[in-house]
Amino acid sequence: MAEYVIENGRIYTEFETIETGYIIVKSGKIAGLGKGEYEGTLPKYDANGLHVLPGFIDIHIHGGYGEDAMDASETGLKHFAESLLSEGTTSFLATTMTQSDDNIIKALKNIVKYQANHNKYQAADIVGIHLEGPFISEHKVGAQNPKYVQRPSIEKIQQFQNIANQQIKVITFAPEVSGARETLAAFHDKIKFSIGHTVATYDEVNEAVEQGARHVTHLYNAGTPFEHREPGVFGAAWTNDTLSTELIVDGIHSHPAAVKIALKQKGNKQFFLITDAMRAKGMPDGEYDLGGQNVHVKGAEARLESGALAGSILKMNEGVKNLMVFTGESLDKIWRVTSLNQAIALNIEHQKGSLAVGKDADIVILDNDQTVCATIKEGEIHQFEKRIF
Ligand SMILES: [Zn+2]
Ligand SMILES: [Zn+2]
Repeated sequence: MAEYVIENGRIYTEFETIETGYIIVKSGKIAGLGKGEYEGTLPKYDANGLHVLPGFIDIHIHGGYGEDAMDASETGLKHFAESLLSEGTTSFLATTMTQSDDNIIKALKNIVKYQANHNKYQAADIVGIHLEGPFISEHKVGAQNPKYVQRPSIEKIQQFQNIANQQIKVITFAPEVSGARETLAAFHDKIKFSIGHTVATYDEVNEAVEQGARHVTHLYNAGTPFEHREPGVFGAAWTNDTLSTELIVDGIHSHPAAVKIALKQKGNKQFFLITDAMRAKGMPDGEYDLGGQNVHVKGAEARLESGALAGSILKMNEGVKNLMVFTGESLDKIWRVTSLNQAIALNIEHQKGSLAVGKDADIVILDNDQTVCATIKEGEIHQFEKRIF
């Protein structure tokens, strides 16, 4: 495999931002990283004036570019994962919907099959599965299909996990429903339980955290809102330091000020940028399917017939840009909400999530407008509309 150097970039590392530095890539890994000028003999790519970050990790994404994880199509997943490189995403959790057991099982089997066969240099990695439902509350379905909501059981989760070859890393669930407590006790060591699509009270959320829940799904959407006498799911998310939370930062799912409050409350280590994107991302306006329901997509919005928001068409690099605008924060502070926090949560931080010697060379290079200039996937350079090399 090619060996080369990315030089003159502004490099974001776990410990500091290097104003001008270089990264040496060898055999798909980061082999060196330093300040100032590179003086060796390897081929050089000039990233002068550009931002060099770890590749994005999207832990909540159903689809995009015409594809959906629920389609259970191997070629569809391939196209989806390849296309994600264009927005800087190098790893993601394929996210399922509240659907029939049969359809969920088909999707799980397809993901496992795809993982065994795919070319890791040419596409974003599926680093696991996010099961969004079916163990949610029928009172907060959002764009999930209420027909297929069911109660959690140890047997069902074990069955799904076995079919998924232990790849289920996150389950979005409602902690107040019957069976939730038992399944949390049985699986919280192995699976990250994320509170979402729920009518849990503030107290119920905090109890679920004591039992092992660790995350909140799409903060502000499909949960009990903050009230000053009943702070609800979102009040608990703000104040419980054990909980991390994810946000769809498209300016539609939440008001920019609500995003700013969330970052202030959670800090940059417990805030995860997600897209929650569906298949219309990267596609023209029109009619699309989401988990068997019809979705109208116009401009930046995707809605069911009922008017309920139906996932997003957000791209990760656009989310980064929005987050900077909404909060007034710099990349120095927020880069880790796109990668490192997720890598730690998924226990893959030894391999991914930051720019450090020995880790995979999963790198995104952005300009000052957060346009993706290049995405490097385990050493392989991909360029899009704006070519820099
Ligand atoms: Zn949802
Ligand atoms: Zn979702």
